[in-house]
Amino acid sequence: MMNRRILLSLWTIIFIMTGFEIQPAEANHHRLISRPHYQIEAQYDPHLDQVRAHMVVTLPKNQFKKQKEVYFHLFPNAFRQWRFDQVSKPTKPGFIDISKVSVNRQSVKPVVRETIMKVPLPKTVSNENQSKIDLDFMLQLPRGGTRLNTFKNTAFLAQWYPMLAVKDREGWHIDPYTTTGDPFYSIMSDFDITIHTPRGYEVISTAQDQNQQTGNSFHLKQNNVRDFAAVITRDYRVLRKNVDGIEVNLWYLDGMEDVITSLHQAALNGMHFYNQRFGKYPYREVDVVLGETGFGIAGMEYPGLVTSVPKIPTREGEKAAINVVVHELAHQWWYGVVGNNQVKEPWLDEGLTTFSEFLYMQEKMNEHDKSFLDRVTVRTNEIHRTVGLTSAEPLYRYPDSVYGLMVYVRPAAMLYDLMKQVGTEKMMKILSSYYKTYQYRVATTGDFIKLAKQVTGKNLDPFFQKWLYFKSQ
Ligand SMILES: [Zn+2]
Repeated sequence: MMNRRILLSLWTIIFIMTGFEIQPAEANHHRLISRPHYQIEAQYDPHLDQVRAHMVVTLPKNQFKKQKEVYFHLFPNAFRQWRFDQVSKPTKPGFIDISKVSVNRQSVKPVVRETIMKVPLPKTVSNENQSKIDLDFMLQLPRGGTRLNTFKNTAFLAQWYPMLAVKDREGWHIDPYTTTGDPFYSIMSDFDITIHTPRGYEVISTAQDQNQQTGNSFHLKQNNVRDFAAVITRDYRVLRKNVDGIEVNLWYLDGMEDVITSLHQAALNGMHFYNQRFGKYPYREVDVVLGETGFGIAGMEYPGLVTSVPKIPTREGEKAAINVVVHELAHQWWYGVVGNNQVKEPWLDEGLTTFSEFLYMQEKMNEHDKSFLDRVTVRTNEIHRTVGLTSAEPLYRYPDSVYGLMVYVRPAAMLYDLMKQVGTEKMMKILSSYYKTYQYRVATTGDFIKLAKQVTGKNLDPFFQKWLYFKSQ
């Protein structure tokens, strides 16, 4: 994500010194890993701002054997009773109601507590190899929501279905929703989604969008992605163009015409730039949807789909939001393909993404301010001295006011320093090796550091200790 505070900090830092079936060709060995499969049949009602759906989730084979329960995130419930800033409060609440839950056809009673749902697994099924959870849901879309939102004749479906929580060696990750950062953590899954709309609507989504429409129904299939976002609209128009075999679509509304050519070009150039440096984007399409998606959000990443504001503020006025578009696109690599626990280690995708964004802006737009990074280093050292925060904390620990500096920009400054020390070629080798090694998986800070040490042959522990943890040796 990029929030407006981060965006503004780029300009005002001096004053505040006070993320069709597409199977990646090279990933055959990943076929052996069983992924969760979501089948959703949904009906969209624009008059009521509602989505009514039936969902069947097939759990990965064997992974849930002998489990007593599984957990889902119900993020839309964050918008039922808003606990956060009044400024970001939805003008009309949103929520998700779950009914008729069954596991392998046995009816069960889920326990819902705000944004978390526990589904008990009956004893008889927990011994079976594979469980299927069936349920109905009714999604009430908020007005003025963050990410999940409705705007004129457009519904932004973000984290809109019951999302299977992650269970790993640490146990279940059932962290609550928060407005600082992206409180989302999910693993690669397969999606088969049908959305029925009234006449005249179009669906833009994580899946390849063209040729999937029959009448007013859209059949959207996408394998091997962490999440599934969809934008249902009657208002958007599109510019389409290919780069490196990827269809790059820019979706815009009336009144945005003055920036669409430059933003579409930036999206095409950005995809090509990252393809060359980090390794190839493995899907066939990416959608860039211009527009406001909630208070404070300049842009947001989902697999195969990003959102961005059309323009950003400058000292002189406004300009096309090229940096936001290329930031969100870089998340396709860092968060989309290479995953991380965004709740526990938000710096890992945001730091790499901000570095990627700055690299693009420097090389393609000739915009790079070394002194800005130096100022951020000084300022973040001050923050650490004052409140003890490092750059590698779970996102709940950061006040919104320092989140961007600590988690986005300082790690970007760190990666610039690393590039200065090891050279551009080695730096790109670190990133491309990281991309290749951890694609479709979940990487950790430890994994990144280990890989950087392997590629460079250097003991980089003191380096990362200093930059991420503010420890000098
Ligand atoms: Zn981001």
